[in-house]
Amino acid sequence: MKVYADNAATTKMSKAAMDVMTEYMDLYYGNPSSLYTTGQIAATKLMEARETMAGLIGAKTNEIYFTSGGSEADNQAIMSAAEYGKIKGRKHIITSAFEHHAVLHTLKKLEREGFEVTYLDVHENGIVDAKDVDEAIREDTILVTIMYANNEIGTIQPIREIGRICKNRGVWFHTDAVQAVGHIAIDVNKDNIDMLSISAHKFRGPKGCGALYARTGIPLTNLIEGGAQERGKRAGTENLPAVASMARALLDSCNELEESNLKVSALRDRLIEGISKIPHSRLNGDREKRLSGTVNFCFEGIEGESLLLMLDAKGISASSGSACTSGSLEPSHVLLSIGLPHEVAHGSLRLSINDENTQEEIDYIIQSVGEVVEYLRNMSPVWDDLINGKKEFYFA
Ligand SMILES: *Cc1c(COP(=O)(O)O)cnc(C)c1O
Repeated sequence: MKVYADNAATTKMSKAAMDVMTEYMDLYYGNPSSLYTTGQIAATKLMEARETMAGLIGAKTNEIYFTSGGSEADNQAIMSAAEYGKIKGRKHIITSAFEHHAVLHTLKKLEREGFEVTYLDVHENGIVDAKDVDEAIREDTILVTIMYANNEIGTIQPIREIGRICKNRGVWFHTDAVQAVGHIAIDVNKDNIDMLSISAHKFRGPKGCGALYARTGIPLTNLIEGGAQERGKRAGTENLPAVASMARALLDSCNELEESNLKVSALRDRLIEGISKIPHSRLNGDREKRLSGTVNFCFEGIEGESLLLMLDAKGISASSGSACTSGSLEPSHVLLSIGLPHEVAHGSLRLSINDENTQEEIDYIIQSVGEVVEYLRNMSPVWDDLINGKKEFYFA
């Protein structure tokens, strides 16, 4: 059986999104900046996609900036706040320890340029405390950037509370909502979000396409200089086929949100129940406040990499954390941030499903994970030590 269970890394494009993409490549190939009719039709289509995207998150049309994806949106949001902070003499930024690297590495760069960054602790349940945000805000804080939902363990953060705090304290609030958009209903006004990052390929749209929402009045800084596209804030001829395809994918995801979440969370719960029966294993992150499709487990006494390879041999695509860190031998910074020791964090498995997965597939995953974990433990010296009492189990 072939099972794709790595939708947090990327999704297969929906048929509708693919159809829009090819239709637009065929019919609307004009450059939206050109003055003749073929160009102006493309410009109109681009505007329609912008309106659709804006409407689906409660934003105004001119608050949407198309980008090459979530990473670019994260970079632009943070660099924009930093540029403004420099002018205002406010060079302090607050974030959490378990953000995506697109956020963390941008902040590291700013630290080298004299910014001060507070990395808030994440609780054992994988959730940042809004009170901690409030306490960390200073006179010179320019930005709070906290992700909407974590990409490795799937926990959802108290975004509305954090948004309210930031608004009251006069600090901009950016959220990397790449795992949330198309999966959770979002309203940037209710949530008091000033900037928000979107990536199409996480909700069955095309790769290499995303958007930054920036509230009216937020002065954006260019990462890419050139033409006057995206109201002068992001140069380069617009990728209209991808943008229109993204808008269609988001429209469909939002329309099907409730139904899809009901179905997927039932599959997820079956997965959690089945895998939790494996001794000395644990579900990482809060049981309730989580995305409907993402789960992450640790198994004591094994290596996540071997687990993945053996699951792959059984036809199952899964991940040990984020796609960006696999291949490195460092354990996931997300799992370390929720307090897991190195050796336990090494034995992790992320499964992220969507409404294309079936109950048969879930049962096949449960059975396969059980077999592989047992097989690997039987040849693991660490497991021997645990069983013989030379080392202590971390999970009872
Ligand atoms: C995938 C992901 C990104 C990066 O998005 P790209 O479009 O691949 O650049 C950023 N943040 C989170 C939380 C993600 O899951």
